[in-house]
Amino acid sequence: MLVELKNTTKKLCVIGDPVLHSQSPLIQNTMISALGLDYVYLCQPVPRGMCKPWLECAKFAGYAGFNATMPHKEELVPLMDELDSDAALIGAVNTVCIQEGRAIGHNTDGEGFLRALADLGVDAAGRTILVLGAGGAAKAVCLKLAQAGAKVFVCNRTVEKAAELCKHDPLGRLVPADFELETLCRLAAQADLLVNGTSLGMAGTGGQFADFTFLDALPREAPVVDLIYHPAETELLRQARLRGHRTANGMGLLIHQAILALEHFTGVQIDAGEMGKLLQTVLRD
Ligand code: NAP
Repeated sequence: MLVELKNTTKKLCVIGDPVLHSQSPLIQNTMISALGLDYVYLCQPVPRGMCKPWLECAKFAGYAGFNATMPHKEELVPLMDELDSDAALIGAVNTVCIQEGRAIGHNTDGEGFLRALADLGVDAAGRTILVLGAGGAAKAVCLKLAQAGAKVFVCNRTVEKAAELCKHDPLGRLVPADFELETLCRLAAQADLLVNGTSLGMAGTGGQFADFTFLDALPREAPVVDLIYHPAETELLRQARLRGHRTANGMGLLIHQAILALEHFTGVQIDAGEMGKLLQTVLRD
């Protein structure tokens, strides 16, 4: 990956706290290089609570835009001059374009997930989907699944958070539930798709599902998708694969949300199929 820096090169970055582990600079600079665009993408630590001064700084320094990761996605919402419909629906911003001094907030996580599902041949319309978790990632996924016409059971350890998430669905297609094994088994039996949006199984966190027997209740033809991509195969995905389910990790979401973000930044239409293949090779190394 080689990005040529010129005096005209436009600046992009990812902000977060922490952020130094982010794959976004690798992903975005790979795409910028492959497309021959006059942009560079940097990694910018911004402490929690400091989005306002950062935004002023980014505008003054002439940034074309930036991505945001934890914990900044919600803090950015009231700071935007304009929000797109997904950022307004989800109540979180992961992509900011700065145009003529105005900050325009987008959210590409939910749409990125729908595109990753489409790659698997799954159309959410009319499906019953079991989503585990009610954090930031699960919220974007659940609200876009509901908008796409799915009925979604949202199971979370802290059931109040699931209930709060479901209140944001203007269509009333999200149903909150607890995270007890009996509940997971009952709802899995009705599901056409299972999505893990918890951090259980993520490398380095130490958390893991106490019991996988809810997978025995899931119809065999229902795919299982984990939003986690590190490790590439979580224990949930391994258990699902051993039971005969089609599985996918969070790499599809990671790639599609990034492609959508670069399209917002640059206005360039990207062939997601070809770019996805390139990014898979870079991210595997
Ligand atoms: P988050 O806001 O911190 O939410 C974490 C979720 O995990 C909450 O629902 C939490 O439940 C649940 N959880 C944590 N420990 C648990 C336990 N021991 N038992 C049951 N539930 C537990 O995090 P997030 O940003 O939504 O991220 C969630 C996962 O998605 C992470 O693993 C992250 O790597 C992945 N992710 C992937 C992508 C991608 O591009 N593929 C993008 C974003 C996130 P409580 O509410 O009860 O605490």
